[in-house]
Amino acid sequence: MVARHIAGRGIRDRGVLAAMGRVPREKFLQESLAEFAYKDTPLPIESDQTISQPYVVAYMTESLGLRGGEKVLEIGTGSGYAAAVLAEIAGDVYTVERYRNLADGAAERLARLGYRNVHVLHGDGTLGWHEHAPYDAIVVAAGGPEVPPSLREQLAPGGRLVIPVGPSVRSQKLVRITRRGEHDFDQEELIPVAFVPLVGEEGWEEGAERPARAQPPARPRLSRPLPAMVAACLRAVRGDRDR
Ligand code: SAH
Repeated sequence: MVARHIAGRGIRDRGVLAAMGRVPREKFLQESLAEFAYKDTPLPIESDQTISQPYVVAYMTESLGLRGGEKVLEIGTGSGYAAAVLAEIAGDVYTVERYRNLADGAAERLARLGYRNVHVLHGDGTLGWHEHAPYDAIVVAAGGPEVPPSLREQLAPGGRLVIPVGPSVRSQKLVRITRRGEHDFDQEELIPVAFVPLVGEEGWEEGAERPARAQPPARPRLSRPLPAMVAACLRAVRGDRDR
């Protein structure tokens, strides 16, 4: 799988390739799905959620630019698979999951597999995990309507945040934010992706396709540039014909 779907599709970071080769994906799936563990596809887990596609896990991990020893925050623990991949490279991985059954299941699985550097919290990850901030890298495994301000604030200087962001709950663009200074952030668009929704105070509202936080009203769109519009109004007021 690593040679064909990961390296074969352009992932070059040796640390990421080694990590992908070490984590047994079948251990993060229910038994009946284990035979599909090394297909490059997302698969269902409990609570209507998914374990991410291996290529996307590798791509997101590579986009974080980890060199080893970092403190990483993951939002959306799910099965714990991506947390294990991160833990193969980083120093400590803090991961937050909104479903208690998934958080408990992942914590148990990760402990059984010997990942002592992964710490799992049941809670709303749109608010981050304040206690251990700042983080060298933050990765979000669910798509939100915008970048949660709390996650930006919990980035260390130079830190990277990778998150799917999009106007609908099932299609997003992967975005990378790099913190340059206290109030200075760079933003790059990476690839189109389709993640499950990020539901929480700074994400989507539960059960609805609306941002949980009120968005500022959209600016009215002008069909013509302003000077042309003003000229047209003046002509109308003067009774001229619009030529
Ligand atoms: N990284 C996971 C992928 C899980 S899918 C894996 O490798 O298996 C995304 C997960 O994000 C789901 O489990 C979903 O419940 C969780 N999620 C959605 N909104 C969340 C929020 N606000 N806080 C924490 N987890 C959230």
